[in-house]
Amino acid sequence: MSQLLEVILRGRRSSGRLDLEAVEMATRAAMHRAGAAVLSELLTSSEAAPGKVPCGCGKQAPYHDSRPKQLTTVVGKVCFERAYYHCAHCRQGRSPRDRELDVEGTECSPGVRRMLAAVGSESSFEQGRAQLELLAGLDITTKAVERHAEAIGADIAAGEQAEIRRAKQLELPRVCAPAVPVLYLEMDGTGVPVVAAERAGRAGKTAGQPARTREVKLGCVFTQTHLDEQGRPVRDEASTSYVAAIETAEEFGLRLYTEAWNRGWSRARKKVVLGDGAVWIWNLADQHFPNAIQIVDLYHARQHLWELAAQLFGGDLRGRKRWARRLEHKLNRGKLEALVKTLREFPPPNPELARLLANEAQYFERNTERMRYPQFRAQGLFVGSGVVEAGCKTVVGARLKQSGMFWTVRGANAILALRCNRLSGKFEDYWESHARAA
Ligand SMILES: [Zn+2]
Repeated sequence: MSQLLEVILRGRRSSGRLDLEAVEMATRAAMHRAGAAVLSELLTSSEAAPGKVPCGCGKQAPYHDSRPKQLTTVVGKVCFERAYYHCAHCRQGRSPRDRELDVEGTECSPGVRRMLAAVGSESSFEQGRAQLELLAGLDITTKAVERHAEAIGADIAAGEQAEIRRAKQLELPRVCAPAVPVLYLEMDGTGVPVVAAERAGRAGKTAGQPARTREVKLGCVFTQTHLDEQGRPVRDEASTSYVAAIETAEEFGLRLYTEAWNRGWSRARKKVVLGDGAVWIWNLADQHFPNAIQIVDLYHARQHLWELAAQLFGGDLRGRKRWARRLEHKLNRGKLEALVKTLREFPPPNPELARLLANEAQYFERNTERMRYPQFRAQGLFVGSGVVEAGCKTVVGARLKQSGMFWTVRGANAILALRCNRLSGKFEDYWESHARAA
């Protein structure tokens, strides 16, 4: 402290003014150094270490020696001494003190690890490193941000897997929250760029090219209680929770089911599944959420009509517009049978467009009951899957699709688990229970 004061006073004498920023940063650094000295002393236990401790193998491990440990804490690097035990039976060595402090096998304190989880889920690992340096005065490598954020994400993911297994065996506890008026599930898929090793042998979007991305499946669960003055549904504030992973539809189905269960699915008065036309979404809805009202996103359905019109009418913009509007009108009024009939009766100009027309007719026919928009609106339900589409951008895109990013499936799934956990407002609970378990 006296050194710091001297620096400050000397600076003021020579320049006649106080450079507040330099002073505040120097003060923080000095406070950190003082804090680190206190912590180092505190952590070096003055109590006599026991002569032996129980070992994981069942035998007793005798005291071996006292060893130093370096730790990065929120006030910087500290070093302390703790007793080290070595088991002659299984040849494992350990320091019980590390477990007590929740720093076993890591060089970062719990406080720092929480910060690493926060910055690692928000932005690139390098940006996270820079943020910690500026905001917390911590000197941490980019690699350490990555390693710790991914480790915490993987731990969250492992906890979720345990819950999913319980869900599979129908062992989840009953949810006691009050019954929700309307519970919505929305699903979508979005590609994330992966490293070359994760693409090997997978078909790409361009024939003959390996896939450069893997699909992240994203699910959102939210509730709706009210309608606005115009009778339109309003999503309950802060009611959205997210799940996301690169995995099969089957695995994802169980993940979303588990989340829906925890959100009170079984007690919701009205249940709705919303998505685009992707077949996996509706297979999954049939399998896991059989009593839900299924709705195809209205904007996707409209887009199908406009894209088809563009193919059929080419440069005839007026004809294209008139035809698409007419079909859109049918769609909005829930006249799906008439819409499909129009598609089937359209005289195809060539075999390629005949196939396209048949495909589109099939798409609307297959989804007819999911496109009864007037009925859905009369019930005050959402007919667009905007929440999950926004989620694809905010949950997945903003963090995992920045330029130059290439993921391993393992790394992406860890960060997705961490990010969903935080954005769903579950992180504090996770951290607390994790600390209790340690
Ligand atoms: Zn042992």
